[in-house]
Amino acid sequence: MKYEYSPPLIVKKLFKDFYWNTSNNKILLTFDDGPTKEATEIILSILAQFGIKAAFFCVGNNVERNSSKAKEILNEGHLIGNHTFNHKRLTKLSNEETVEEIDSFNNLLREKFNYDVKYFRPPYGRFTISTQGILKEKDMKCIMWSLLTEDYKNDFETVKFAVKNYLKKNSIIVLHDSIKSKDIIKDSINFIVDEALSKGYTFGEPAECLKLSS
Ligand SMILES: [Zn+2]
Repeated sequence: MKYEYSPPLIVKKLFKDFYWNTSNNKILLTFDDGPTKEATEIILSILAQFGIKAAFFCVGNNVERNSSKAKEILNEGHLIGNHTFNHKRLTKLSNEETVEEIDSFNNLLREKFNYDVKYFRPPYGRFTISTQGILKEKDMKCIMWSLLTEDYKNDFETVKFAVKNYLKKNSIIVLHDSIKSKDIIKDSINFIVDEALSKGYTFGEPAECLKLSS
């Protein structure tokens, strides 16, 4: 199913360090591709309103362009994860290029904000057999997802359908901090919170949602 992402068991076994769901039966909101002038502010204000802490998988060149927004994300107590420096498909890169994409992001965050990046999400959800080893060497964890809302299609009905049918108590939800989703992001977060509360689910903080259970 395109909204619900659950890889075959063999993939979960091979990539045992990857997270597909939270490990504490709480929901984690994640926002990819920012920070942006268009959407970051909207997202931060609605998260603050609900008291939810989220994970932002940022792109290095966007952090450079919009570094005050990245700073705000951190100031608000959210987590920033590595979504590479240039948002390239890892399947098209050599291992050296992958390491460069990851390192240059981590170095930027360390230099700008004295922030130690511990989590990674591959662009387009595409990774290779080497990805796990590269991350392990850097002591970083790979965060995939279980619920893709397709908010980047800018169609609130699609988001509602995905959330209504596939939200679970341990979902890692992907949304986007992007110009593509800026018009529906507020309604989307509101809808997710309403649905979650009506089902008795709760939202977790990134660090507690992403602790290895074994
Ligand atoms: Zn992305």
